[in-house]
Amino acid sequence: MFREVVLGLAGNPVVEGALKRYGMQLGAARFVAGATLPEAIEHIRSINQKGVTVTLDHLGEAVRQQSEAVNAKDSYLAMLDAIHQSGVDANVSLKLTMMGLGLDEELGRKHLLEIVDKAAEYNNFVRIDMEDSPYTEVTLKLFEEAHAAHPQNVGVVLQAYLYRTMDDLKRLSGPNKNFRIVKGAYREPVSVAFPSKADVDENYVRLVEESLTRGNYTAVATHDERIIGRVLKFVHEHNVPRDQFEFQMLYGVRFSVLESLAKQGFATRVYVPYGEDWYAYYVRRVAERPANLLFFARALLDR
Ligand SMILES: Cc1cc2nc3c(=O)[nH]c(=O)nc-3n(C[C@H](O)[C@H](O)[C@H](O)COP(=O)(O)OP(=O)(O)OC[C@H]3O[C@@H](n4cnc5c(N)ncnc54)[C@H](O)[C@@H]3O)c2cc1C
Repeated sequence: MFREVVLGLAGNPVVEGALKRYGMQLGAARFVAGATLPEAIEHIRSINQKGVTVTLDHLGEAVRQQSEAVNAKDSYLAMLDAIHQSGVDANVSLKLTMMGLGLDEELGRKHLLEIVDKAAEYNNFVRIDMEDSPYTEVTLKLFEEAHAAHPQNVGVVLQAYLYRTMDDLKRLSGPNKNFRIVKGAYREPVSVAFPSKADVDENYVRLVEESLTRGNYTAVATHDERIIGRVLKFVHEHNVPRDQFEFQMLYGVRFSVLESLAKQGFATRVYVPYGEDWYAYYVRRVAERPANLLFFARALLDR
């Protein structure tokens, strides 16, 4: 309910204008690792020093012009170069609408394949984030195409709130498949997504267990410690090798939990977004947790 209200309000032009003006000073900086690539690389370096790897995201989504999509693609090629040259331990995460998918499927496809080719040259990896449900089918299709070209260098995200996801997981499972499993962050109708959080949580655990059982590399991306506890129990009881899964969290959220998992010898990764275009990303983080809105309101009153 809270999530629906925040995601709905955030689309209002007055709210958007005010938030864009003050949001960075009032809380968005907690979730965003700077405006530029060099700043982001420095953040990655200090995260790596704590035994945690990174997936780097250049903020932005749903471009409106082809030139913006080309710039977005070039920024990802530059990120892969910078990661390689600096020697930090990081891969990249991208959104296909930022690559032009919403303008023209062929454009999104071409840009994705170019980025995955480059990642393969560096023996690095591209994670395709999952966006809202109109893009689910085409995202999975383009993932499969990129995976056929470079099986070791690309993976996709599956969202536990969608009814379809268990079928997708079963259909897509196979050698060298690499899935990040998340609960899902967009506003979705009840016709496609579980409305109840308890159902999403249950489906999340079922998906992780199914993915591990089928031998896929599985990124368990959640801050939910109850779920992390259940996954730890499952991998212990089923002798799942530690190199078959990792835990992932978002920059600015519960880092101490991730650090403690890293100290216990589990593979861990932080999703680090950077760039100027932080609005939509920040709104989804606020929608996930009422306390983030209180944090924002307190900062506003303190001014
Ligand atoms: C690495 C990573 C990548 C992701 N990629 C995608 C993607 O491609 N597509 C997509 O739809 N979604 C993505 N998400 C977001 C995801 O779908 C959820 O919206 C988000 O992770 C919150 O759900 P949760 O699993 O942490 O569980 P929740 O039940 O929402 O949260 C569990 C607890 O974690 C803490 N917490 C959760 N979120 C926050 C927050 N924003 N601020 C502070 N505390 C918080 C709270 O204490 C909360 O009680 C990603 C999440 C992660 C961690």
